[in-house]
Parts: sequence; structure tokens; C-alpha cells
Amino acid sequence: MKLSALSPRYEAIQETRVWIELYPRLKRLAEMAAKADINFTIDAEEADRLVLSLKLLEQLAREPSLGTWRGLGLAVQAYQTRAVALIPLLAGLAKDSGRRLMVRLVKGAYWDSEIKRAQVGGRAGHPVFTTKPATDLSYLAVARALIEAHPYLYTQFATHNAHTLAATRAIAVNTPIEHQRLHGMGETLYAAGHRHVRAADASHLCPGGGRTRIFCPIWCGGYWKTAPTPASCICLLDDDTPPEAVAADPISQVEAQPGPHPRIRLPRDMYGDRLNSFWR
Ligand SMILES: Cc1cc2nc3c(=O)[nH]c(=O)nc-3n(C[C@H](O)[C@H](O)[C@H](O)COP(=O)(O)OP(=O)(O)OC[C@H]3O[C@@H](n4cnc5c(N)ncnc54)[C@H](O)[C@@H]3O)c2cc1C
Repeated sequence: MKLSALSPRYEAIQETRVWIELYPRLKRLAEMAAKADINFTIDAEEADRLVLSLKLLEQLAREPSLGTWRGLGLAVQAYQTRAVALIPLLAGLAKDSGRRLMVRLVKGAYWDSEIKRAQVGGRAGHPVFTTKPATDLSYLAVARALIEAHPYLYTQFATHNAHTLAATRAIAVNTPIEHQRLHGMGETLYAAGHRHVRAADASHLCPGGGRTRIFCPIWCGGYWKTAPTPASCICLLDDDTPPEAVAADPISQVEAQPGPHPRIRLPRDMYGDRLNSFWR
């Protein structure tokens, strides 16, 4: 569920309207999902909306009208520098409310706009990592935290990246999890993943038989936000890109080049010699 599609005022500075206008609709939809016993995950959108999503999730998790339903969830973006810190918070909410939560781990679809927004606003830093290996590594760190939070959190790994798929299977050993892919994408990768599990009798790596949920976006109206373009998925079909490059290990990449991207300056310094006007 993309909350910005439910209300055009789903913004941090419109919190009062969010509770009056958006929350009742969200609750009604969650009650319908609970009644039908289907999953209901709040999508991850721009970093500025994260705190608001957490507040809405907390309120929903504590709603008596949702009974013992275990389908409520939130998507978490590994590219956000706050990602790892979110997991104990979500596990704490699940424990406290008595409602197991689902967590879909993604890398994050709005990277360019997050960088641009931080620059335009002259912010002190970026809310997201600035190198791809840092995001890939963060994904693995969050994956580990999620597995440790079992059974309070049920983990859903959404990726089309070969290394991420293989590494999360290894991290999740003996823990029930699922993978998610987008409809029409990643078929070759997931077919190869299933063949590997069968051939290596590696079923312990993914209890549930390597369950994969196929995610099919449905929207009403004419507006659709940026579609994710997973670079690794495209490389998989490119004969000139060696498998070692497609499935490169992010730990060695970050060790080889730690820190932020050398060409993405802090918003303050983005003009070189001249300070960003917010800092003058
Ligand atoms: C089932 C499913 C559900 C999804 N739901 C959501 C959702 O709710 N919210 C959402 O935001 N996205 C969602 N996505 C998209 C997701 O966040 C990724 O954009 C997409 O899956 C690509 O990541 P990857 O691991 O598949 O591929 P990869 O090619 O391994 O990763 C690409 C990702 O790496 C990151 N990246 C790229 N360059 C840099 C850089 N220079 N610095 C830092 N990070 C960088 C970006 O996050 C980019 O999307 C979903 C994806 C799937 C498959």
C-alpha cells in the first residue's frame, strides 16, 4: 500500500490531516485485509515520510479491531542510513503489541531524488548512502538484524540482485523467510536460485522451499511514481558482463573504497568554492 496514493497530504508537515483524513481509510483497508486474512504492507517511500509511516504502523498494530491478524507489515529501505536502527524498534513494537509484523527489505527506489532533495534543501547530510556497495552491505546487515528478530518479525527479502539473493539465503539459515520479486522481472535469477536449492539439497538455506512471492503493482488513477530499475537484473542478461561482476561481494568493495562517493559532495559543498546558500 503506497500511502501517498491514499492521500496527497501524506507529508511530515501535514500530520494532523494525515490522522484525520488518511488514517481512517488506512484502518478500514487493514480491517478488510484482516478479515480476508491477506497481507498488507505499507510501502517505503521518501525518507521524510518514514517517521510518519512508523507512527501509523504503531497505531495500526495496536488496533483491537484487527484481532489476532498477522499480516500487517512495513517495507524498509536499506539505502537509508537509519535502516539498521529501525529493526529493534519494529521488533519492540511487535513484542509490545503482541502482533507479529512482516518486514519487506528493499534497497530503495528513490535514490536520485533523495540526493537531490538533500541538496536543494541544503541539509547537513544525505539520508541515504551514496555508494551502491554501501547500500548492498547495509542490506546484508539489516537482513541479519531481521533474522535475529524472528519470530517477532517475519522477513521478506525483495531483490533482483544475484549476490543479495544468495547471501540472504545463507543468512536466513533455518529461519522461515520469503523472497519477493516484481512480476515480469527476475524470472531467470529466481529459476536459477531454485535449481541451486534442489541440486545442492540446500533446503535448510530456505525453509519453506525457497518461497517467492511475486509482487504485482496495481494502481488506480493516472499517476505512478518512479519505477525501480535494478541495474544488476539488466546485467544478468548482458553476455559482456562477467558473473563475478554481477555478483560482486559488497564487503570487499566497501573495504576497498570506504566512505561516501567521492563525486557526491555534501549539500553544503556541492558548488565547490561557493557555499550552498543555506549555509551562508
Ligand atoms: C517486490 C519488490 C517490492 C519493492 N517495494 C519497494 C518499496 O516499497 N519501496 C521502495 O523504495 N522500493 C521498493 N522496491 C524497489 C527496490 O527498493 C529496489 O529499487 C529494486 O529492487 C532494485 O534493487 P535490487 O536489489 O533488486 O537491485 P540492485 O541493482 O542490486 O540495486 C539497485 C539499488 O541500489 C541502490 N543504489 C544504486 N546506486 C546507489 C548509490 N550510488 N548509492 C547508494 N545506493 C545505490 C538503490 O537503492 C537502487 O535501487 C521493491 C522491489 C521489489 C522487487
